[in-house]
Amino acid sequence: MSLIVQKYGGTSVASVAHIESVADKVARFRARGHDIVVVVSAMAGETNRLAALAHEVMAQPTPREMDVLLAAGEQVTIALLCMALERRGHGARSFTGGQIRILTDDSHTRARIREVDCSRVRDQLGQGNVVVVAGFQGVTEQGSITTLGRGGSDTTAVALAAALAADECQIYTDVKGVYTTDPRIVDGARLLHHVTFEEMLELASLGAKVLQIRAVEFAGKYKVPLRVLSTFEEGPGTLITLEEQEMEKPTIAGVAFERNEAKLTVKGVPDQPGIAYKVIGPVSEQGIEVDVIVQNAAADGSNDISFTVKRDDAERSLRILEQVAPSLPAQSVHLDTKIAKVSLVGVGMRSHAGIASRMFQALARENINIQIITTSEIKISVVIEEKYMELAVRSLHGAFDLQNHENGQ
Ligand code: ADP
Ligand code: ASP
Ligand code: MG
Repeated sequence: MSLIVQKYGGTSVASVAHIESVADKVARFRARGHDIVVVVSAMAGETNRLAALAHEVMAQPTPREMDVLLAAGEQVTIALLCMALERRGHGARSFTGGQIRILTDDSHTRARIREVDCSRVRDQLGQGNVVVVAGFQGVTEQGSITTLGRGGSDTTAVALAAALAADECQIYTDVKGVYTTDPRIVDGARLLHHVTFEEMLELASLGAKVLQIRAVEFAGKYKVPLRVLSTFEEGPGTLITLEEQEMEKPTIAGVAFERNEAKLTVKGVPDQPGIAYKVIGPVSEQGIEVDVIVQNAAADGSNDISFTVKRDDAERSLRILEQVAPSLPAQSVHLDTKIAKVSLVGVGMRSHAGIASRMFQALARENINIQIITTSEIKISVVIEEKYMELAVRSLHGAFDLQNHENGQ
């Protein structure tokens, strides 16, 4: 008998009818003799609805209260799913994150899991019950409710699977697994049967929201067998694997994209040591995450520095830069919210030259201007104008022939 942790995302529990079919699915696994821990998200749209209510009351809702509010979404789903299981004759018990002590730090709205206490879960499994846990939430040492950031139910599931040493962690969602790119953007996106942790980590951090990045980090660190698969269609989905297990890999695993960034540019600062620090320092000291950075020195001894931040942090970053501008001194400060980042990811880049130039050629063919380029060992990212994002993703997918590769399987 094996222990499986299953996570069902928002669209998989979007209505009572959906919850009923999740209950049928869980019941089938029970019937095969598996112990099951289910993690569920809030019903589709619910987290957004709750967040919008908060913003009606307060422009910048208090993070602590925001967490109390948002965590309520998942609490609805656990209760309904347990009822549906009980009606089918299965013992089932629901728990909030706090009840099973998913202990987190106190960074409200983006808390990190520190520890998971499995004793109540094990106890319930021992009694033959299905355990249903509210995703996306935890509790601090002091007893305050926290949430784990958008998409955080994935991380709850992986953390539970790690703590319980589960045989597999299955992330059920509304697509058949991890694709070469978002199948909603590119018709020819191909389902990957395997993807390495390393690649998945890059894809998730560069915008592929099919898995929350922390879930992938956790799974890699604790070697949790992790699979992404469809709630609605049968199939093996995508297994996230260690690289060593891979046979021959294609050069590129996939294309990721991110709209949720903004670009700030500080123009005409002096070209001298310490200037990048004087520009970026005050922004990151306010807890704002700075992503890609580029600096251009002009012949006249002045510099332009551009960098990107999350779109939610854009206005705040602009205000910080406007404050420090006179002391730099800077000629001007600009904010551009209409940008997007498109990235190519693949472990095969390590051993293949010429990927970057092929990428730039594909974008040039579409007349797409590249504003910023960054690379690391297994990824190349470009920042472009937002309106060209989908075109860029499609043309890169085509240029690297991602729809046709056999992916070494
Ligand atoms: P859930 O509510 O189940 O957590 P999400 O909406 O968070 O689902 O994640 C699934 C979505 O991720 C898909 O519907 C798809 O649009 C998107 N997505 C983005 N990139 C990829 C990718 N490379 N492979 C699969 N899905 C992707
Ligand atoms: N309900 C939360 C969200 O929408 C968590 C999740 O679904 O993973 O982000
Ligand atoms: Mg999700």
